[in-house]
Amino acid sequence: MKLIFLGPPGAGKGTLAVRAVEMLGIPQISTGSIFRAAIAAKTPLGLKVKSIIDEGKLVDDETTIALVKERLAMDDVQKGYILDGFPRTIPQAEALATFSAVDKVVNFDIPDPNVIERLSGRRVCKACGYNFHVLFNKPKKEGVCDYCGGEIYIRDDDKPEAIQKRLVVYREQTAPLIDYYRKKGLLLDIDAKPMIDEMEVIFKKAMGI
Ligand code: AMP
Repeated sequence: MKLIFLGPPGAGKGTLAVRAVEMLGIPQISTGSIFRAAIAAKTPLGLKVKSIIDEGKLVDDETTIALVKERLAMDDVQKGYILDGFPRTIPQAEALATFSAVDKVVNFDIPDPNVIERLSGRRVCKACGYNFHVLFNKPKKEGVCDYCGGEIYIRDDDKPEAIQKRLVVYREQTAPLIDYYRKKGLLLDIDAKPMIDEMEVIFKKAMGI
């Protein structure tokens, strides 16, 4: 099963993807996580994209497409994958279609106020990338990841100015993908307002699993 998780930042794509990986036995490919790992390791890619990401803008299509193309050529994704955060532009979607045929695009439907509430309270594990929230999903011990013991931090792009920018970028550049995939008959809309346990139920029902 080759899936795309499409939706604004903070819609719960990454959190649901972690559960879907277990359910479906296919890997999650998060372009945002790949970029953050490159930034942490100070690789040439990381140095190139750091300021773009911190400001809430998109990394250029050429760089992002090359990265995903390389990743989708690896052995572990031949059975399927969950693309979390890619494609984010029409040119990215068109490029993807030339090297992989997706089965379904799950559209996470959520209004801006819910997104802002989620992103402004989001805390992320530096080591494994797991998402927590200061109100809705607190770690057992403050500042420490429940799963790997890693340090929990606030992403630079979860700061208020960057959140606003990312929402504008989403509406302008990524939301057109909803119609693009709907016209291809691939879109599956899910209500992304509920908390994660309920979203999991909604997702399973929509997928028929
Ligand atoms: P995410 O973790 O999906 O919210 O991504 C964090 C940031 O990484 C985004 O705000 C972009 O700056 C960058 N990014 C992730 N995926 C893409 C993509 N498909 N195209 C361009 N930039 C991306």
